[in-house]
Amino acid sequence: MAEVIDWLEDGTASGAPYSPRFGDRYRSELGGLEQARDVFLAGCGLPAAWKGQPQWRILETGFGLGLNFLVTWQAWKADPDRPRMLHFVSTEAFPASADDVLRSAQAHPHLVPFATELHSHLWGLLPGFHRLSFEQGRVLLTLCIGDAKAVLKQQQFEADSVYLDGFSPQKNPDIWDIHTFKAVARCCRRGTRIATWTIARAVRDALSQAGFVVRKTPGIPPKRDNLQGEYNPAWEPKLPADTHPIATLQPGHCVVVGSGLAGAAVAASLARRGWRVDVLDEADVPAAGASGLPAGLVAPHVSPDDSLLSRLSRNGARMTLHQCKALLTDKEDWQHTGVLQRVMPDADKHLPTDLTQAWPEAASDWSRMADAGELAANGLTVSDKAFRHSAAAWVKPASLVKAWLATPGVSWRGKAKVAGLVSDKGSWQLKDEVGHTLAEAELVVIAAGFGSLGLAASVTGKPPALQAIRGQVSWSDAMAGAGQMPVNGHGSFIPAVPLAQGMVSMFGATFERDEEREDLKPQDHIDNLLKLGELLPGLDLPQPADVQGWAGVRCATPGRLPVLSPIASENQAQVWLCTGMGSRGLSFAYLCAELMAARLHGEPLPLELRLARALQTAPDRA
Ligand SMILES: Cc1cc2nc3c(=O)[nH]c(=O)nc-3n(C[C@H](O)[C@H](O)[C@H](O)COP(=O)(O)OP(=O)(O)OC[C@H]3O[C@@H](n4cnc5c(N)ncnc54)[C@H](O)[C@@H]3O)c2cc1C
Repeated sequence: MAEVIDWLEDGTASGAPYSPRFGDRYRSELGGLEQARDVFLAGCGLPAAWKGQPQWRILETGFGLGLNFLVTWQAWKADPDRPRMLHFVSTEAFPASADDVLRSAQAHPHLVPFATELHSHLWGLLPGFHRLSFEQGRVLLTLCIGDAKAVLKQQQFEADSVYLDGFSPQKNPDIWDIHTFKAVARCCRRGTRIATWTIARAVRDALSQAGFVVRKTPGIPPKRDNLQGEYNPAWEPKLPADTHPIATLQPGHCVVVGSGLAGAAVAASLARRGWRVDVLDEADVPAAGASGLPAGLVAPHVSPDDSLLSRLSRNGARMTLHQCKALLTDKEDWQHTGVLQRVMPDADKHLPTDLTQAWPEAASDWSRMADAGELAANGLTVSDKAFRHSAAAWVKPASLVKAWLATPGVSWRGKAKVAGLVSDKGSWQLKDEVGHTLAEAELVVIAAGFGSLGLAASVTGKPPALQAIRGQVSWSDAMAGAGQMPVNGHGSFIPAVPLAQGMVSMFGATFERDEEREDLKPQDHIDNLLKLGELLPGLDLPQPADVQGWAGVRCATPGRLPVLSPIASENQAQVWLCTGMGSRGLSFAYLCAELMAARLHGEPLPLELRLARALQTAPDRA
């Protein structure tokens, strides 16, 4: 449940927000706006400090009602010398509702447009990280939901500024103790500036112990003093043994091999950060591989133990849905329909028995049990059991690929089949089959679906453990008796997708391991029809002769998670592998691209370290 806030009468239209949990006000006696500007921004030397910088990374303890974020975002937008990217990472143990965040901003009309946009992102805030994107991906808010000490251990970046906020040290001592400050220090570099409004002795002592040098500075009356400082420990800070050193590569030239979802997403994420990106593909149009799928589903995965895959699928679904909303045409390229996942009688053991019992309330923004009306409206009976995923949609992958490739800074080249990579004095050369150099760059990303196997082997000498899984989808004219929403759980069914020939119902798909051929098979249409008959027994199925289809080859890893990993580095020139999207390229491609960008530039992680690590291993073929 969202945090309970009492709105006390204070003569303003919205009232003064008060926390019954902590017995404290959300805003200082100065008012939240002045505090955000004078204590935090000015206290960290902003906006002057970020001028001319490629990116600026702010860490805040205590998101509260989001006022510091809104004021910082507004200052960034108003500054002609703003950095290309603004990262704002904020921890929050007890997230307020979207409505309370919006209500709190009503007192400051110039912030209302910002707050209104933020409001639309504040849903499903389960424990863990949530990456929210604004300003075409140039302002990124990473909300880390949970205890600050614990969530900061799952983050990995070097903050440029730190805002220490929260309820008063008397009311909520945990957020001001040495353990929290040590966790904050893990995300600082020498020189990171900090600012806060409390000058409590215990806070100053704990900050000094954690390596911060602090001083009192005059406050704006009636507040006498604030605290400012920087991270400058008397000792040499050590990274934990299992941590990657934080890279801060400057944007340069990158070549991506493959223009499916994976390659196009990487190209867009890097170009947004200032890279010049050339995307090469052996085909003569983009999205010619598995991403040529006419339409697919993006939906969260659910499991009894909320597995790694389930959590990753939520991170990915949130980010993809936002990309669709920002870049695609509704009902033409995608539709935010939601998806019903039918629990087939023999699939029970892999699924939670009842989401409403197993999950806290924020989870119902993602998924909940379907009610009788929803079951009936989608061709199921009350005796059937199904989850209703709200954060779910059908999407045409090729439309997303096209939109990502249109990012300024990206250029696409077809009929360019890469046969291998050779390192040459600080760069990597991409060779064709007769040894001609097709392109050369200091950063190469192999995102060539199953074609990545040979390319990665040309770099490392060992083929990675990737498997080809052929699949065929089928469609016919829109079917009589079809419900309103896509249904999955035993294959999938999308009731209405607009294709060139008109509105169709799409269903499938088949799974054929170790098969790389893409030709259509009549038997696969029959298999897809049989499966559809079991998934939705009430449907009026078409004759096999009236069915058309498409086939492609998925590229999967043994663990069914994508692989995102640097596989070679010569004189600073790197080769990365970004593939293995399996059956969830729509959910994973953009997540992987943003994670890669974060790792290259020392940006905050868009997902918890333990989840990021699960994607970072490139197992070799047995
Ligand atoms: C039948 C079917 C149904 C599916 N349903 C869904 C779904 O509902 N939801 C979902 O999320 N996912 C679904 N998927 C999976 C999804 O399509 C993939 O995960 C995704 O498209 C993979 O994208 P990719 O960029 O990794 O690979 P691809 O799209 O295959 O792109 C690889 C690109 O690399 C190029 N290439 C290969 N080798 C070379 C080379 N040597 N030189 C130059 N270029 C090269 C290829 O031409 C291709 O364009 C489905 C897949 C299939 C087959």
